[in-house]
Amino acid sequence: MYCYHTHTHFCDGSSHPEDYVKEALRLGFHSLGFSGHAPVPFENKFAIPESRIQEYCDTILLLKEKYKDHIQIFLGLEIDGIPGIMPSFHHFRETYRLDYTIGSVHLVQNPDNGRLWFIDGAYRETYDKGLERIMNGDIRRGVTLYYRQIQQMIYDEKPDIVGHLDKICMHNAGRYFSKEEEWYQHLVFETLEIIKQASCIVEINTRGIYKGRSKQLYPDAAWLPAIKEKEIPVTISPDAHQPGELSLLYEETLNLLQREGFRKIFIKGLECYQ
Ligand SMILES: [Zn+2]
Ligand SMILES: [Zn+2]
Repeated sequence: MYCYHTHTHFCDGSSHPEDYVKEALRLGFHSLGFSGHAPVPFENKFAIPESRIQEYCDTILLLKEKYKDHIQIFLGLEIDGIPGIMPSFHHFRETYRLDYTIGSVHLVQNPDNGRLWFIDGAYRETYDKGLERIMNGDIRRGVTLYYRQIQQMIYDEKPDIVGHLDKICMHNAGRYFSKEEEWYQHLVFETLEIIKQASCIVEINTRGIYKGRSKQLYPDAAWLPAIKEKEIPVTISPDAHQPGELSLLYEETLNLLQREGFRKIFIKGLECYQ
């Protein structure tokens, strides 16, 4: 077992990195990857502050050395793709000598007003208000901008892993649009094709389900046959924010992947399925 999507108290997680290592050892993990939210150049409550990013990296590197005979530890970051606002992934990779990056879109930029729509988090009202105020209530435009932003991030930044691909669906919960609509399906297929061309890994994120915010994985299990057909590698991510979340829904998701015909492979030392 493993986890490559882990948030500690350096960003919006609960605990010191070593607490996650101890829990991972208890669970018998072969690897543990830390993916703190990379610093963002605006006021926020979720990312590692710029002033602590070096300390974050140093802490993980110390643990990597300390536990090297027991578990493989990776230093990573979950980086927001926001063109014109975020520094390049290359900057983070080079400056902090990262083992891997997760590229995610949590904030969708409307180029008409430059404002950011927060599509993640615990509160549906934030999503609804943002849609109204930042996207003028135009869901199709908001969702299209979301996928365009992911596509641009993949072209420009080539993240190792694409984070929670269709998280825009979480607070939609079938209210504003249906995943069956043709325009929506087209956006996802188009994005999967770009992911394939860029040789990225797609994570299968279980957090929405175990937090009770959603009934679906990210991406939705309905996309697994298309992902399999395109031979895009996937990895299971609990998106853990506490040590106790490190293995949530791992077994169930692995069983699902096996039923869909995925087989284990390794990319850059990361356990994936293809
Ligand atoms: Zn995320
Ligand atoms: Zn995350």
